[in-house]
Amino acid sequence: MIISAHAAAGAFIGAAIKPESKKAWAGTIVLALGSHALLDFVPHWHYPFIPLWLALDIIAALVIVFLIIKITRVKNGSDKAVVIAALVAAGADIEYVLVEFSLLLPEPVFLSHRPGFPHLHAGFFWGNITQFMVVVISLAGSYYLSRN
Ligand SMILES: [Zn+2]
Ligand SMILES: [Zn+2]
Repeated sequence: MIISAHAAAGAFIGAAIKPESKKAWAGTIVLALGSHALLDFVPHWHYPFIPLWLALDIIAALVIVFLIIKITRVKNGSDKAVVIAALVAAGADIEYVLVEFSLLLPEPVFLSHRPGFPHLHAGFFWGNITQFMVVVISLAGSYYLSRN
């Protein structure tokens, strides 16, 4: 999925766990990475990999993470966990940038980017609906957390 969908899921995971112990932080990181692989398995659409689309995607991700921080702060959320889990969840895609624009990495290494993983794609319409749903569920879930 695109960065904003991964960031939304990660932010929600951070907000839901609100880790304090080392163990809880480790669990948060593992779940954030796991959410990335899981969402790459849900059929989605990719924009053409050019700086303009990438910039729009990153701006959307920042807005979503900011909203989740705002929403969960109502009931002493954990800003730090929201931000870090969002960065980890979306961060796995940084390797695409390295593969595409640098010589540091010859090919992707993350689980759901490797050949053989059922990384599923859909056309523009349905491929965006699934990603939009991830954002909506993450925002709604965060709202729910802040009320209960
Ligand atoms: Zn994909
Ligand atoms: Zn990915």
